[in-house]
Amino acid sequence: MTALFNYKLKGTDGLARTGVISTPRGEIRTPAFMPVGTAATVKAMMPESVAATGADILLGNTYHLMLRPGAERVANLGGLHRFMNWQKPILTDSGGFQVMSLAGLRKLTEAGVTFRSHIDGSKHELTPERSMEIQRLLGSDIVMCFDECPALPASDKAVAESMQLSMRWAARSKEAFGDRPGHALFGIMQGGVAPELREESAAALTGIGFDGYAVGGLAVGEGQEAMFGVLDYAPGFLPEDKPRYLMGVGKPDDIVGAVKRGIDMMDCVLPSRSGRTGQAWTRRGQVNIKNARHQDDPRPLDEACSCPACRNYSRAYLHHVFRSQEMISGMLLTWHNLHYYQEIMAGMRAAIAARQFAAWEAAFHALRAEGDIEPV
Ligand SMILES: [Zn+2]
Repeated sequence: MTALFNYKLKGTDGLARTGVISTPRGEIRTPAFMPVGTAATVKAMMPESVAATGADILLGNTYHLMLRPGAERVANLGGLHRFMNWQKPILTDSGGFQVMSLAGLRKLTEAGVTFRSHIDGSKHELTPERSMEIQRLLGSDIVMCFDECPALPASDKAVAESMQLSMRWAARSKEAFGDRPGHALFGIMQGGVAPELREESAAALTGIGFDGYAVGGLAVGEGQEAMFGVLDYAPGFLPEDKPRYLMGVGKPDDIVGAVKRGIDMMDCVLPSRSGRTGQAWTRRGQVNIKNARHQDDPRPLDEACSCPACRNYSRAYLHHVFRSQEMISGMLLTWHNLHYYQEIMAGMRAAIAARQFAAWEAAFHALRAEGDIEPV
């Protein structure tokens, strides 16, 4: 019998894993990259286009959606999938991280966080119970525990206390989530860069029992080396038979390094945000389409890419529409970036299944080291 939500590990190569998460809304092939649809849209993309890039799941932000248009309103309109016309799985964050990074006048207590909206200054409260309620109203397929992520740098004591608070909130999140067949609840490991705190956090979470586990508190400005330092051991504290999610990562080489260390899922605004600022990510690294070297270049951004931006348009055109501030600029570059990210994920899934990950990774780095094609 197949459970309504389950993860099946299909292959490993070193610590890298490939598998499939089955949900009532479809399968999520892992390693998976989730585009970010902050305000019920992946900016500059139609949902059909997001799906065409190969995305199996996208991420929605509880903090933004609770403030505008409001979780109850989305529920009355049929839930987030119907509201934004995306029928595949959706993961929502708990709101905790963005309260800490965006909201004004925060007050943190054992109960939760009160804060003022960055939009209109109105007062709101988020608790583990309210976060679970909002994510249920949105209709999220994968719900994240409400947690606290301390601003870095922080003392060991502050990191430990914050982690222990997050573990108490994890237990309350699980209690409030209840029994919802077909929907999953993920716990979030905290503990900063201290192995003993990471282990304590993982033990607390696995004691409660979740459908998947996130490695939290990374990608907050600590740098790639420190992040990989934690990822060298932290995933090993988590159960092998559940998906592992690294939140807010990252650049292409961050993603490859995380998968190499046993991560199954990631999300990041980078490919879509870069697409709106003239930055393209290609197999040869980052390309700044604003640069004058592109203005007479009839070649595609990446001749090997099958996305619409590369198939139908020249670098000269992409340069022109960016300089002219035409909307199609953000649309084409976002499409390309998301397509490229999904190509990386598909490449890694195939390489892990074939136990060729090391060769794939070497080729990935070698082409990036060569850099962009010579100017015309
Ligand atoms: Zn492309």
